[in-house]
Amino acid sequence: MIRRLLIVNRGEIALRIVRAARELGVVSIVAHSEADADTLAVRQADEAVCIGPAQAAKSYLNIPAVLDAARNCQADAVHPGYGFLSESADFARAVQEAGLIFVGPDADIIARMGDKASARQTAMAAGVPVVPGSPTAVESLDQAKTVAEDVGYPLLIKAAAGGGGRGIRVAEDSGMLAQQLPQAQAEAQAAFGDGRVYLERFITQARHIEVQVLGDGQRAVHFFERECSLQRRRQKIFEEAPSPALDEPTRQRLCESAVALAEHVGYRGAGTLEYLFDDQTGEFFFIEMNTRIQVEHPVTEMVTGFDLVRAMIILAGGEPLSIAQKDITLRGWAVEMRINAEDPDRNFFPSLGTVNGLTWPTGPGVRVDSGLYDGYKMPPFYDSLVAKLIVWDASREQALVRAGRALDEFRLEGFTTTASLHRRLIEDANVKAGAFDTNFLERWLESSASAADQHKATPHDATVKEAINEQ
Ligand code: ADP
Ligand code: ADP
Ligand code: MG
Repeated sequence: MIRRLLIVNRGEIALRIVRAARELGVVSIVAHSEADADTLAVRQADEAVCIGPAQAAKSYLNIPAVLDAARNCQADAVHPGYGFLSESADFARAVQEAGLIFVGPDADIIARMGDKASARQTAMAAGVPVVPGSPTAVESLDQAKTVAEDVGYPLLIKAAAGGGGRGIRVAEDSGMLAQQLPQAQAEAQAAFGDGRVYLERFITQARHIEVQVLGDGQRAVHFFERECSLQRRRQKIFEEAPSPALDEPTRQRLCESAVALAEHVGYRGAGTLEYLFDDQTGEFFFIEMNTRIQVEHPVTEMVTGFDLVRAMIILAGGEPLSIAQKDITLRGWAVEMRINAEDPDRNFFPSLGTVNGLTWPTGPGVRVDSGLYDGYKMPPFYDSLVAKLIVWDASREQALVRAGRALDEFRLEGFTTTASLHRRLIEDANVKAGAFDTNFLERWLESSASAADQHKATPHDATVKEAINEQ
């Protein structure tokens, strides 16, 4: 069993892990940067330790500094949260070699599944369908063109080490492939320290549906699916569980494929298998596995009643899974609205300031995961996610009504957030009907912006392409 847990992260997820540790009787120690000395996670934790300057490369990504801190604090385990070092096989290995527990899968499983190109191969080996594309990373333009002839255009060029919606480019034809490939490789090298890229057919009409799993190295169970199609620039904005697009037989097939893949690799810990789902044909294709806790895990907790972060700490301590698949059932509907410090009316321009006049929504079925408090000064160095507003109710329709009520209660002065976007989004007829794909939100933003400004409408395809390649 873990006794002293070092949490190497910040913001709402650091606080989420502190809370799980407290409930387990585990001492929580938050490792933070100089810019994060006064976060709510630091205040709520049992202990805190500074690991370096504001710049993430010198603190949250600084493996030697983290290991030093773990030693000095006599931690016996390290929780990486999401982002930062959470999918670094090198970090997981270094933690294990220092004699500590890494709260996540073994380093070799991270290397195998966290690498998007090799995860595709593993999925194929486990009999899980993948998006047609290159079998491995592509080295040369000739090799890429050969794959492209087979797979067809449009194609995506994806960084094997990419994540967070970054490192993906579109190629419409062979000219564009020739132009984009070297740029994609150079960009991947600069952004992720790994220049390998692979190709995938660009499925222009699909939903993003993912399956939450927990494994103990022998056995895995699933916690059903999350629908995450409402995205901007390939980043999730609004998620829900379950998916409005699945019938019961398809849900079973999808979730069972995720368990098969998790068991195929002997997965231990919490993980998510992401798929693209074609609701015309009912086909699904694996795209990647996230070998960590995800931002949107609370919607799954709300509809299944399980605490996933607590479970991952217990599993990391060496316990076997204590539940069977039949113990996990779905109840009601949950939605999560990501509240980012960005101005949705100014093209999501980052918004910074000091929190004041903060009122969180409360009442039945409402959960807020956030590190904000009155007087908190937002540091400019990190991710824009400042809160997650999660709402549960008996049905999808009621959950959306409750989401509106919760958004109306929410007050925050000091900076602008994406809360107003959610308030409008949940009134949209297609959103209410659950009828959308991964391009829906971009299109919707485009048309609401042009309705507001009376601007000439830009053809949608061109805009999406620009938005993607501009990243
Ligand atoms: P989720 O599916 O949990 O939403 P995301 O892919 O959105 O996962 O990533 C969660 C967080 O981690 C985000 O803050 C994102 O910016 C960050 N992130 C994930 N992978 C990477 C990566 N390879 N490089 C940089 N940031 C990443
Ligand atoms: P990341 O590691 O950045 O999360 P993903 O491979 O999960 O990257 O892709 C992010 C998003 O990009 C997906 O949720 C989906 O909306 C879109 N996407 C990824 N692959 C494809 C594809 N082959 N066709 C169409 N859209 C895709
Ligand atoms: Mg993804």
